[in-house]
Amino acid sequence: MTSKSTIYDFVIVGSGIGGLISSVLLAMEGHSVLVLEKNHQIGGSLQVFSRDKCVFDTGVHYVGSLDKGENLYQIFKYVGILDDLKMQRLDQEQFDVYRFEDGKTYRFGLGYEQFKKGLLEDFPNQEKAIDLFCQKVIEVCNSFPLYNLEEDSPSNYIDNPEILSENAFDFVDSITTDEKLKSILLANGPLYAAEKEKTPLYVLALITNSYIKGSYRFINGGSQIAKLLTKKLREYGGEILKHQEVVSANYENGSVVSVVTKTNDEFYGKTFISNTHPKATIKIFGEDHFRIAFKNRVSKLKNTISSFMVYISLKKDSFPYYNYNFYEYRSYDVLKAIDYTPESWPEIIFCCTPTTVNQGEFAESLSVMTYMDYSEVEQWADSFNTISDKSQRSIDYENFKKEKVEKILTFLEERFPGIKGKINNIYSSTPLTYRDYIGTEDGSLYGIKKDVKSIMNSTINSKTKIPNLFLTGQNLIFHGILGATIGALVTCFNFIDNKTLIDKIRNQDEPKI
Ligand SMILES: Cc1cc2nc3c(=O)[nH]c(=O)nc-3n(C[C@H](O)[C@H](O)[C@H](O)COP(=O)(O)OP(=O)(O)OC[C@H]3O[C@@H](n4cnc5c(N)ncnc54)[C@H](O)[C@@H]3O)c2cc1C
Repeated sequence: MTSKSTIYDFVIVGSGIGGLISSVLLAMEGHSVLVLEKNHQIGGSLQVFSRDKCVFDTGVHYVGSLDKGENLYQIFKYVGILDDLKMQRLDQEQFDVYRFEDGKTYRFGLGYEQFKKGLLEDFPNQEKAIDLFCQKVIEVCNSFPLYNLEEDSPSNYIDNPEILSENAFDFVDSITTDEKLKSILLANGPLYAAEKEKTPLYVLALITNSYIKGSYRFINGGSQIAKLLTKKLREYGGEILKHQEVVSANYENGSVVSVVTKTNDEFYGKTFISNTHPKATIKIFGEDHFRIAFKNRVSKLKNTISSFMVYISLKKDSFPYYNYNFYEYRSYDVLKAIDYTPESWPEIIFCCTPTTVNQGEFAESLSVMTYMDYSEVEQWADSFNTISDKSQRSIDYENFKKEKVEKILTFLEERFPGIKGKINNIYSSTPLTYRDYIGTEDGSLYGIKKDVKSIMNSTINSKTKIPNLFLTGQNLIFHGILGATIGALVTCFNFIDNKTLIDKIRNQDEPKI
């Protein structure tokens, strides 16, 4: 047991990007901060693994808003990690390529000018619709002052709540009768697990705009973000401990005084921030301490679908390095891809060639992601396997994975003929892998699903009814590295004056966005 002599100003449970950014922002203000992480590696979805001398990202393939002066660029600069990040900007003409069964490709380019130009080449008669799309995306983003790091960013982060209830598909459907253009405007849907009836327009807008404004890959993986944030945290006197799974909390007079880990260590704090999913937070901090209405709401929350990942190490100099991503669709009905059947799976695969130091014309590896519902692996739900808590899953599970890998390879071979002969080794992960490493109940890709029909029910506040317990991470506002970083600002506004913090972020000798 840890002695009570150390009482931290802040104890943060989980070292995802939201927990880490919060920790550094608070430490920069002079607070004593402790981060507790259950895993062997810090960073949550920023974790990487290495096979055959290739580094594979598990949950970050490319990140937007990193061009000079953009929102994530400014925040990363403020926390002091920007200059040390090793990044590769994706191609100006095309950072994403969408390819279909008929072999036709479409692309999104960087910057609104290039974005429009690329689309107009494929849809010369659709200038009005393409303009309407861009205008609306920008207008929606402008309703989120915090997203634009505006100096009067309100702590509730949105100016115009009506915008939350606009549906992404309905909007795209309303601006054109060209069915192919509609498909292309929604083709980056896997970035936000798009669903026709549910996905709000603001989710499409915040995500799509961010990628248009500077899409980057991280050289040798995104874990460098976590490593640099950890270094900064330590420089400011903060601490981070790994292999510390928080399992419960102790209270005095209705406030949390300490958290206890699986190994029975106890850590004391004045304020606690949970970077875990709200359902996990309720379990850790004790059901009895939350209001029934909140517990009911959280218990009904649906998460976004999970994923199946294939990681391929390639034979030397056999497969080109592409400085953009491929979204390979079977059908132009792009939003149907998430509702796959066992026969039709996979209806979409996202493919990217991770970038390395001194990247040449050939790729060392290929990462492939597709949707997978947790129900497909639920029969093995009793098994658990991470580096710090190792165990074998069953032969059946391994056979299931092999069968799925074969299907992905068949699809890959159709789109990249000859690729099978270029493979060195193949590794894969399922929703169970994400469940075990991240601590969500179903390995969800992006946390809580935003449902346009009940948007307030799928929105989580950073404050809880426990006076000194707060939340951070992808479930607050939106997901992704940018979303969870902005979520961390919202969390920190509870402790740092919002105007002061935004002023500091903006006043860094860089052009303002
Ligand atoms: C397959 C996949 C691909 C993705 N691709 C991209 C992409 O290309 N670009 C992008 O921007 N975003 C991408 N995302 C989304 C992005 O990675 C996430 O939205 C973001 O990283 C979530 O950050 P977070 O702060 O919510 O924390 P998380 O990453 O969810 O981390 C939570 C942390 O809490 C820890 N934890 C949980 N329970 C406990 C406990 N009891 N005690 C201690 N620690 C605990 C976990 O171990 C974990 O480290 C992807 C996600 C996935 C899954």
